[in-house]
Amino acid sequence: MTKDEIVLANQDFLFPAVFHYYKEPLVIARAKDQFVYDTDGNQYLDFFGGILTISVGHCNDRVNAAVHQQIDRLEHVSTVFATEPQAALAKRLAEIAPGNVRQSFFTNSGTEANETAILAARCYTGSAEIIALRHSYHGRSALAMSLTGTSTWRLAGAMQPGIVHTANAYCYRCPFGLTYPSCNVQCARDLEDVIRSSTHGRVAGIIAEPIQGVGGFITPPREYFQIVAEIVRRHGGIFISDEVQTAWGRTGGKWWGIEQYGVQPDVITSAKGLGNGLPIGLTMATPEVAAGLRGASISTFGGNPVTTTAAKAVIDLVDEQNLMANAAETGAYLREKLDELREKHPLIGEVRGMGLMQALELVRSRTTKEPAVEETARLMEAARANRLLIGKGGMFGNVIRISPPLNIRQADVDAFARALDASLVQCAAGDVSPR
Ligand code: PMP
Repeated sequence: MTKDEIVLANQDFLFPAVFHYYKEPLVIARAKDQFVYDTDGNQYLDFFGGILTISVGHCNDRVNAAVHQQIDRLEHVSTVFATEPQAALAKRLAEIAPGNVRQSFFTNSGTEANETAILAARCYTGSAEIIALRHSYHGRSALAMSLTGTSTWRLAGAMQPGIVHTANAYCYRCPFGLTYPSCNVQCARDLEDVIRSSTHGRVAGIIAEPIQGVGGFITPPREYFQIVAEIVRRHGGIFISDEVQTAWGRTGGKWWGIEQYGVQPDVITSAKGLGNGLPIGLTMATPEVAAGLRGASISTFGGNPVTTTAAKAVIDLVDEQNLMANAAETGAYLREKLDELREKHPLIGEVRGMGLMQALELVRSRTTKEPAVEETARLMEAARANRLLIGKGGMFGNVIRISPPLNIRQADVDAFARALDASLVQCAAGDVSPR
């Protein structure tokens, strides 16, 4: 198909709900390592990694060699039979999971991973009531949308009962109008009142992203999760860490984002970067919580031999090549470059994130903090023209999300910073038209 035929077929034969970046959809033909190529052969530096999914580079040789071998040996039998790849991955995950979290349930996406976690929490505690955070994103099923605290991604009519939203730690736009640390982390302490006023007093648990991804890489202060975990546990609930974006070393130095906060979760969910592009969802729990999930459960494709082989290859690679350390070191270098850009460009209100998960919140004025929505759309277009792929997020659509593969080097960051700087200059000069 030609590029135009692909774009037309997208319009004619896909649900209009399928969402694209850019005025003209970018049609990607192939990718290797940190680069993707469009149908005209143009090379782009990919600092978004298919939404934080390309953890070890596009079409990674080692991961793909393992996949090729496995796909020719055994492609699918379903989980009513045991296979070595599923067992080997589960065993490996238990070695790296924090505390007593050691049993896995495999599905195909982050949404399903969270569905499984909520079901397990409800079965284990006997309570239906779940706490979620404002500005969160947990997926696109009716339940996951109901957990989601970002209105853009909640469809009217799809909402389910049994979920209440509590304040997140959005320090740049504090919901209480306070400033950290003199705020005494009021956003976390308010959960006590949320439980008292909006639940029956006993809850199944809380689901939270250590860094809110779709919400715009909102990064809470360390005490936030310690305080909310304590409150939830005191009311009978468990702590579910949604690590769909923050796992596999992305935040630097540690496998899991929640480890940065010194909180021990009862359940961890993940997807995205685990398969480096192959679809896999993971729910991990303590044996007690896992045992609470009553009744037989089948996921036809869950624990698939090919996707679990890919996932184990990704984990082994992150470990052997010390990519968690690289995420910390190269992430710190990236952060320096972003801080420099903030000095130069008044459009950048805040730089935030951890490791190789960094964001820029764009504002019309640093005083009023009015979200720079059109400017963000223009910056996306300018970056594309400069052959750089970055992500967009935040409830207002004014946050640039930066999440390159974990094995990038300083030279890639230099190329990224040059392209982003040029794009910011063009954007300020009005050289690119808005979306
Ligand atoms: N949780 C988080 C934190 C996510 O970022 C996402 C996807 N953006 C999901 C869940 C849902 O994952 P999926 O799209 O694989 O269903």
